[in-house]
Amino acid sequence: MARYTGAVCRLCRREGTKLFLKGTKCTSDRCPIEKRNFPPGQHGKDRKAKIVGYGLQLHEKQKAKRMYFTLENQFREYYEKASRSTAVTGELLIQQLERRLDNVAYRLGFAISRRQARQLVRHGHVEVNGRKVNIPSYQVNAGDEVAVRPAARKFGVVQHAAGFAASNPVPAWLEPNFENFSGRVLSLPKRKDVNLPINEQLIVELYSK
Ligand code: SF4
Repeated sequence: MARYTGAVCRLCRREGTKLFLKGTKCTSDRCPIEKRNFPPGQHGKDRKAKIVGYGLQLHEKQKAKRMYFTLENQFREYYEKASRSTAVTGELLIQQLERRLDNVAYRLGFAISRRQARQLVRHGHVEVNGRKVNIPSYQVNAGDEVAVRPAARKFGVVQHAAGFAASNPVPAWLEPNFENFSGRVLSLPKRKDVNLPINEQLIVELYSK
């Protein structure tokens, strides 16, 4: 399935919740969810049916998938891997999503959204342990050093993100170094470290049918 390239705010409106795909706009009153929290489209406002059962599970999966900007196949692979493990499936699913390099770059304040962080990684501007890594889904490990490559530190988007970085909370499993545009992975993330409104149990129920 191709990656969605349309207006991302429509995705939030479809899910009925903020997915935080546009950086600083998401926390401002310019966020469309603040004024038009109903599905997009001509009849969006009329859709009032309460979503239950399968629909609810599907919504939860779509929400998580869109928050982390992953494709369906990749998301399913995360679930398959988690379900083969002896760990709690839902928690391992979330952990794999959090360990993605684009998410780590976002969490460390290199970019104002996961979408922007993904592009930064994709264009080869992020390194792990001193080596360029341009795979957004790359899974970081405890002890890894993640940094913006020196040539990219003066980029407008990186400088802009750095202006907000210090005021945004960084999860406890990461240690940022704002002066050096870098950070260290202290440990693998636990569920309590991830402050996103995702009910992973519903996703597990959906896939395990
Ligand atoms: Fe979603 Fe952010 Fe757009 Fe608001 S501004 S609708 S949170 S992407």
